[in-house]
Formats: sequence, structure tokens, C-alpha cells
Amino acid sequence: MKILIATGNPHKFKELLAILPKKQTGGKKLEYVSLKDFKGLTLPPETGSTLAENAAIKAVYAAKATGLPAVADDTGLEVGYLNGRPGVHTARYAGEYADTDENNRKLLAELDGLLLHQRGASFRTVACLALPNGQTISCEGKLDGYIGFGYRGENGFGYDPLFIVKDTTQTLAELTDQEKNRISHRAKAFNLLAEKLKVLK
Ligand code: IMP
Repeated sequence: MKILIATGNPHKFKELLAILPKKQTGGKKLEYVSLKDFKGLTLPPETGSTLAENAAIKAVYAAKATGLPAVADDTGLEVGYLNGRPGVHTARYAGEYADTDENNRKLLAELDGLLLHQRGASFRTVACLALPNGQTISCEGKLDGYIGFGYRGENGFGYDPLFIVKDTTQTLAELTDQEKNRISHRAKAFNLLAEKLKVLK
């Protein structure tokens, strides 16, 4: 069975390929393609007000457009002191065209003066599997931690250099890819979705 991973981002495609199963419980093979295999297919804008809505918007659109079961995800950083912001706006936190550094600096500025225990935050991912008939199944993964006081570490992307993993002293950017993929919000959501794919009819 062919499954579309609804992303054009080669980094994300590779990360998800390492998590998703190659075979179903009954032995049937699962094969994965990405948006790059469908020239001209672009995902609709993320206009939902929750991560779950945005993941479903992308997965349902991709499944209907291609006739394949499709998976899509949406991730947000939720900071307690900011009442869950930036949440669905995580990618565009410091503005529509803001880059990673601008987003990270805005976050540090908003938390300026707070102690570590006041800087609690979580990454949350919703992964959605949509069938061509519009039916959906969603799974969620969460990683708890704290927003640090400055950048630490060279690996990863996005907010990784600021995010200190709960019960450790390391930021996500100080972990190797393998270490991050064992605990990450995205890995947790897609490990749960993997179980659904194994028994998909
Ligand atoms: P997306 O839904 O996967 O596109 O993620 C939205 C935004 O969240 C990205 O632009 C990143 O800024 C941030 N983000 C998502 N996952 C991670 C992560 O694992 N580490 C750091 N930042 C992330």
C-alpha cells in the first residue's frame, strides 16, 4: 500500500520514514511517497485555530487530491507564562516572514526576567492520517521542558537551542538526531500513528 507523507520538506520526510512501519501486521508492504512525487500539488494554507485542525486540513486535502491515504502534522510550542502562545502561530511567531532567529529572540524577550521554573513550555505535535474518503485518525505527542536563557547547542532546528528538556540539563539542540527522535513530540505522535498504519485496510 502506498502512503503519502504530505510534506515537501526532505528533512521531515526522512525523519518520518525512520519512524513509520515498512510492513503491516499482516505482512503487506507499506511504501511512502512525498509531495515531491506529485508535481504541482501544494498544500492549502494552515487556517485552522488548533494544531489538530491544521494537521487535518493538510492530510484531507492531500488524500483527496491524490487518492492515497495521506499523513500530515502540525507542531506548536506552548509556553505556560504566555498562556499557550505561540501555539498554532509557532512558525510565524515574530511575524509572517520572520526567520528562526527572530522567533527565538522574541521568545527570550517575552520571558525576560523570569526564573527557570516560570519558563515551562511544551512542544505538541498532532499527526493526522486521512483516507481519500475524508475519514481521519489523529494522534498526539508532547514533550515538556523549559525555555532557557539563551542559545545552547548546534543540532536540530527552530526553537531547539532554547528548549531545555524536562528532568535534564540539555537543550534539544545539544542532543543528537537519534537522541531527539527517541523522545520528541513528533516521534511520539508518529509512533502512535504507526500502529494505526499497521492495521489500515
Ligand atoms: P511544523 O508544524 O512542523 O511546520 O512546525 C511549526 C514550527 O514549529 C516550525 O517552524 C518550528 O519553528 C517549530 N518546530 C516544530 N518542531 C520543532 C522541533 O522539533 N524543534 C524546534 N522547533 C520546532
